[in-house]
Amino acid sequence: MRHFNIAVDGPSGAGKSTLSRRLAKRLRCIYVDTGALYRTIALWMMREHAETDEEIKDKLPELTVTMDYLDGEQHVFANGEDVTALIRTEAVSMAASRVSALPAVRKFLFRLQQSLAEQNSVVMDGRDIGTVVLPDADVKIFLTASPEKRAMRRFLELEQKQPGAQTFESVLEDVIRRDEHDMNRKISPLKQAEDAVPVDTSDAGLEESEQMLFQICKEKLGL
Ligand code: C5P
Repeated sequence: MRHFNIAVDGPSGAGKSTLSRRLAKRLRCIYVDTGALYRTIALWMMREHAETDEEIKDKLPELTVTMDYLDGEQHVFANGEDVTALIRTEAVSMAASRVSALPAVRKFLFRLQQSLAEQNSVVMDGRDIGTVVLPDADVKIFLTASPEKRAMRRFLELEQKQPGAQTFESVLEDVIRRDEHDMNRKISPLKQAEDAVPVDTSDAGLEESEQMLFQICKEKLGL
């Protein structure tokens, strides 16, 4: 199959990573989770106690973020350390939302994302993939779902890991706070690209959503 790029953007909890992973498998290309890259920077900055914008910017040159695929799963490395499992905490989620508003951080990851997409056919998910990182992507999808639905999915996921450690209300609050950060930042805010196809997953199951996305890709890629 020819080289192609698929951009999937949307707020957290809309189903981007699950659906993008499945889509990549069906289209036999790689899945790039760009949120994991921002999370990796956030985790590393937390460890380094870099808190202010200036401190984060100054520390960036000391960090190398790389990605690799082990058994088909994306792993991310901070200066060679596999941090894939460590970046999935709520603290890192909030910190990622904050560091991702910094121009220096976005610039730092911009080239890495572009070169991955140049060298491989990808399904890449994030917040600014269709608008900034891959403006010429062959397919652009904007996934949404109501804040309540997105918070409920996140809540159930967290409950499996740590039952009773959170309430639905606190997760909903986090979701809304993170959306606000992501949509209102000056640089690369989360917004739908003009040529993106909107897909609302509020009332669709996983299989149904996957089928919708696959159909869109088939049509646009002429498969
Ligand atoms: O998608 P995920 O929740 O893992 O992303 C973590 C944070 O990274 C998001 O809240 C968002 O602020 C940031 N992000 C971004 N641009 C992307 C991907 C993620 O700003 N392309």
